[in-house]
Amino acid sequence: MEVTDSNAGDEDYAARRRAMVREQLAGRDIRDAAVLGAMGAVPREQFVLEPYRRLAYDDAPLPIPANQTISQPYIVAYMIAALDLRPDDRVLEVGAGSGYAAAVLSLIVREVYTVERHAGLARYAQERLARLGYDNVQVRHGDGTLGWPEYAPYDGIIVAAGGPSVPDTLRSQLAPGGRLVMPVGRSRHRQHLVRVTCVRPGVFEEEFLVPVAFVPLIGDEGW
Ligand code: SAH
Repeated sequence: MEVTDSNAGDEDYAARRRAMVREQLAGRDIRDAAVLGAMGAVPREQFVLEPYRRLAYDDAPLPIPANQTISQPYIVAYMIAALDLRPDDRVLEVGAGSGYAAAVLSLIVREVYTVERHAGLARYAQERLARLGYDNVQVRHGDGTLGWPEYAPYDGIIVAAGGPSVPDTLRSQLAPGGRLVMPVGRSRHRQHLVRVTCVRPGVFEEEFLVPVAFVPLIGDEGW
């Protein structure tokens, strides 16, 4: 029998997860207790491809199918913390990918809606989230630059891929007081995180946060 790190037991993963929260999140600037708690609870090793399992708590993004990536844990925590969420909130995610960020969000807010343009990824995310018991998450296959109008407006919108600008359709699905966080940039692979706050209907405030590198947002209001 081959014994590798990828056969690490649940307890090993739990210890690595605690270290990740302590060193990569709390040890930097993540202060939101709900975000730290959720990041400390979701088994990231279940959301990465088997060969990468032993790297699940590294300070890095990892490949997932369809040439996409699961974001670095710190970036997931940073973006969610930037939404300043409350337990009763409803959140839209664009780019479900593996479903990891949706799982983290589901422990922080009441309802999570996530849209994914790759049919295979959408299906795997849905199956994985259901199997792990994250039952306040709904997954849809489609173009997330158009949001998910049936459940709008949202208290928070998180976009996990980089586009040339913030889609107007997504802005219009923000509740008054709601916040959207998204990588925006003129290059397809380098962006700045932008936070848009809906001050009141039709009026938005925009802030530039940190430089990031996300996969491109492909769609009607993306690339
Ligand atoms: N949140 C994910 C990270 C996904 S990477 C996780 O935790 O694993 C970004 C994802 O956005 C990719 O899966 C990509 O297919 C998806 N994507 C890109 N453009 C999209 C669009 N217009 N609508 C929905 N998903 C999109």
